[in-house]
Amino acid sequence: MADLEQALAEVAAEMAVSEDRGEVATYIPQLGRVDAKKFGIAVATNDGRVLTAGDADEPFSIQSISKVFTLTLALGEKGDALWKRVGREPSGNPFNSIVQLEHESGIPRNPFINAGAIVVSDILLAGHQPRETIGEIVHFLRFLANDEAIVVDREVAASEQATGYRNFALANYMRSFGNLTHAPELALGVYFHHCAIAMSCRQLALAGRFLANGGRNPDTGHSVVSPERARRINALMLTCGHYDGSGDFAFRVGIPGKSGVGGGILASVPGVASLAVWSPGLNANGNSKLGSLALEKLARMMNWSVFAPRG
Ligand code: GLN
Repeated sequence: MADLEQALAEVAAEMAVSEDRGEVATYIPQLGRVDAKKFGIAVATNDGRVLTAGDADEPFSIQSISKVFTLTLALGEKGDALWKRVGREPSGNPFNSIVQLEHESGIPRNPFINAGAIVVSDILLAGHQPRETIGEIVHFLRFLANDEAIVVDREVAASEQATGYRNFALANYMRSFGNLTHAPELALGVYFHHCAIAMSCRQLALAGRFLANGGRNPDTGHSVVSPERARRINALMLTCGHYDGSGDFAFRVGIPGKSGVGGGILASVPGVASLAVWSPGLNANGNSKLGSLALEKLARMMNWSVFAPRG
């Protein structure tokens, strides 16, 4: 097996010179300004090392990666009752698709497509003002990453709010089926703000450590979720974390991962490490083009896969 530090440097060097970087998302105007040449990667191992390469300390918009953390919080509040309002199946449709919602009576396929995450925001809002819920989510990420510098990028949040017509459509549609208990604009206020949280690859890799370590922070030993819940969140990331590109990601990379249209991917190698990669250019499914490629190469070099025998 390759040396991790060397493998990271090799992959980052290769990605830095790649010409074919995909397209930066522009449907959220503020995201369209990001430099497509950026590339960062960070790995936090269960034995306490943090290794990085490229632009690993530059914050970017985590977008849908935040859905892993809001799901974790909502499961903590609601437990399995959450699954009455959100499914656990890959959608096979784009992240912002509305078509399935009609056939399936306003119950989104899974918590990682936009509709599912808006329901999760609605759950987190119960008994709170939107700003309290947003504060709770940011606080959770700071706690997990042990880094108080993590904040919401207000300009990105405002940009999403101003142009999020599809998300308003999804929220209104679900409300008509009774699967949103708050006014759509309140649930969306939470949703847009958690998508607009900015984090670096290093901060994200650190925040995801509990997923790779049976629900516990490997540094402090503190339990974040039960081992069973960590396993299940990983299963959802593997099956639903890349929208209609989830099967391809599982095939090529073979570890649980969650992407965002900011070009980030959070991934976990259960028992080994948590990692995050960032390259803003996207493929046709809205997943980071070079991010996926970098994870594919790294996983191959390190023999990381949930489908291969370890050791
Ligand atoms: N905030 C984005 C949206 O609602 C999240 C999408 C994503 O990262 N895939 O469209």
